[in-house]
Amino acid sequence: MKPCVPTLGLTGGIGSGKSTVAQRLVELGAHLVDTDAIARDLTRAGGAAMPALAAEFGAAAIGADGALDRAWMRRLAFEDRTAKARLEAILHPLIGAAALQLAAAHRGRPLVYDVPLLAESRGPWRARCDRILVVDCTVRTQVERVAARPGWTAEAARRVIAQQADRGARRAVADAVIHNDAISLAELASEVDRFMAWWLGRDGRPVVAP
Ligand code: ADP
Repeated sequence: MKPCVPTLGLTGGIGSGKSTVAQRLVELGAHLVDTDAIARDLTRAGGAAMPALAAEFGAAAIGADGALDRAWMRRLAFEDRTAKARLEAILHPLIGAAALQLAAAHRGRPLVYDVPLLAESRGPWRARCDRILVVDCTVRTQVERVAARPGWTAEAARRVIAQQADRGARRAVADAVIHNDAISLAELASEVDRFMAWWLGRDGRPVVAP
């Protein structure tokens, strides 16, 4: 069933500028539901996913602080191809349910689901959203932006990018694309303003048809 308030799925690779776009959408009046934050909350000590994760993966999956041991999970996913799917089978339905609950608390405002891995798990999100916006840029720009973050290197950025959907796969799920390369932050904000006008039906053209 399609949502009754304008509902956007926002996605983009690491360093694409997705969070910056999300922030601008909030400034323009949208309500943001951050699925990464939901995932972190589900997997903190005492988080709603922890009993199921402990049952599935054993005590080794739980860190000394009681939260999911992400480094352990990443290592397991590397060794055991089924681990990622087993983790997602637990987390994704919980993330979806929590996202719907947070969305329901803010009825009336245009809704934005920030979903970093939307292209990787497109089915459920396509059904929850009436539009999908992809923030796109070259891998080179992604690496430059991520490597500039404290604690990151270009190599670490490339590793994360290689694990995410590629640009083509992301664009294939898009209703609109914002190209965030070689533009200033002010120009990016204007692109978001134009997108918002199209999304809410005040302008007939998408920013860029994919
Ligand atoms: P993501 O959420 O996709 O990982 P962010 O929105 O956090 O990416 O952007 C990554 C970094 O790049 C931030 O420091 C942001 O300010 C910067 N950035 C994004 N777009 C631009 C742009 N068009 N011009 C200059 N800096 C940008």
